[in-house]
Amino acid sequence: MSKRNEKALFHIQDNDCPMYVAAPDYPTALRLWEAEMRAHGEYADGEPVPPPYGITRICEASEFLPEPWDPTSLDLVEHLRRQSQFSLRTFGPGTRTVGIADHIEKELREVREAASTAANAELSGALDRSHRDDLLTEWIDVAILAFDGAWRTGASPEEIVLALKAKQAKNEARKWPDWRSADPNRAIEHDRTAEGGVS
Ligand SMILES: [Mg+2]
Repeated sequence: MSKRNEKALFHIQDNDCPMYVAAPDYPTALRLWEAEMRAHGEYADGEPVPPPYGITRICEASEFLPEPWDPTSLDLVEHLRRQSQFSLRTFGPGTRTVGIADHIEKELREVREAASTAANAELSGALDRSHRDDLLTEWIDVAILAFDGAWRTGASPEEIVLALKAKQAKNEARKWPDWRSADPNRAIEHDRTAEGGVS
């Protein structure tokens, strides 16, 4: 038994499937379960001791958790593999370019609505973490859809990561106008006078 996230998550290895267990009252629940496992390990019929009340076996709720979630770090290749497998099962094959673009446009409207709600809350002094979380959630929806479109071009997770890093490096090497003199409500585009191409 190895602890992965002491606040919310721990991990028990068994032979059939790794079990990922969320415990809202983690310390108590884990102590109870560890005591139970030490005392019995399994029932006489060979069934493993079930988790105590308050613990959810996440692998039963979602069988597609290949590794315990570490909420603060990400292997993007692994994540894209996981996302594409989920997406293929759930939304089917194909590029879905028009459908995904349509969905991104819908999510961008939600970004604007959440930003407007947050701005109004800020003006009235009521801005709190939940407004920022709502806005973050809408941006994440856009990011997930963009990655969905990316793997559906036929690119592998490794190729998507390469393209992401290559484009970031390209942007960093570009010449940009002074953001202070740019309209905050318009796209800031790089200086194209030094190059012939687009994008
Ligand atoms: Mg949304």
